[in-house]
Amino acid sequence: MKRIHRLVALVGIGVCVSIAGLDVHAQPATPACDFSAPSLVQAQCLLRPGLAAGEALPAVIVDLLGRQVNDSVPVSTGLPIDVSEAALRASLAKRRIALPDIGGELELGLSVNAAGEPARYFVIHDTSYPVYSSRQSFPRHIDDPHWNRELARRLVVQDRKRDYGAHLYIDRHGQVRASFPFDVARLSTKTERLQPELVGLFIAVECLQPHGRDARGLDTRTPSPAFTRAQLDTLALAYVVASYRARRWLIPALHAGVDAGYAGAHDDPRGFSLALWSGRLALLLRSLQLSGKTPV
Ligand SMILES: [Zn+2]
Repeated sequence: MKRIHRLVALVGIGVCVSIAGLDVHAQPATPACDFSAPSLVQAQCLLRPGLAAGEALPAVIVDLLGRQVNDSVPVSTGLPIDVSEAALRASLAKRRIALPDIGGELELGLSVNAAGEPARYFVIHDTSYPVYSSRQSFPRHIDDPHWNRELARRLVVQDRKRDYGAHLYIDRHGQVRASFPFDVARLSTKTERLQPELVGLFIAVECLQPHGRDARGLDTRTPSPAFTRAQLDTLALAYVVASYRARRWLIPALHAGVDAGYAGAHDDPRGFSLALWSGRLALLLRSLQLSGKTPV
């Protein structure tokens, strides 16, 4: 829940990662997640904003993180990830996504924190931009490919000028652009601002999502669907690419989950259905010939 969304007026282009003292997204205090807990426990906490009350983590997430049977094994030792590189490259080619647009080459590792630990979280955001007034319905052009492409281009240009922000921007047509490659540490959450030792552990992905103000002036309205299928598919592909490079399944997280417990924490991604996304992820994994074997 946000108060007045003054971000646009303040910075021209306002995305959800506006953490330099511009947070205006108040939400009730909820317990913070424990970043030292086992992967599945962390995922349950970091993904809770995308779960209905009492809803369990999707089986595909449990399965992937459960493969990493020993969380105490240092990440640097490299845990297997059961995805065919050839199939992954073919999937990218089929969708005409070049590796530089989705974080960089598959052979490269991910960003590291100051202690040299590689990234282990895949954080999903929505841009919460642009924002339409309470009198406006969402214009048709928000689903126009050219409008999407141009807005994503502008957001990437803006992002590259800042010392905080995301790695990727995925528009409503599933087109993706990188503002920074995955091996560059990006500060994208309030949690990292307050715990600098975490900077470098988060791969940050923004999904383009316009918002609309409600009668109270809060920008709670989202388009329908809030996330398009194409967007969810590219998001799943980005998750697999980042995990492939990490040689382990990253812990998926929602920005609101990462920042839970902090006053003024962001509430994005809004309208995100973990069930829908995990369904698209499961389909993708099937096409990537995930064998289902538990690594030894
Ligand atoms: Zn965010």
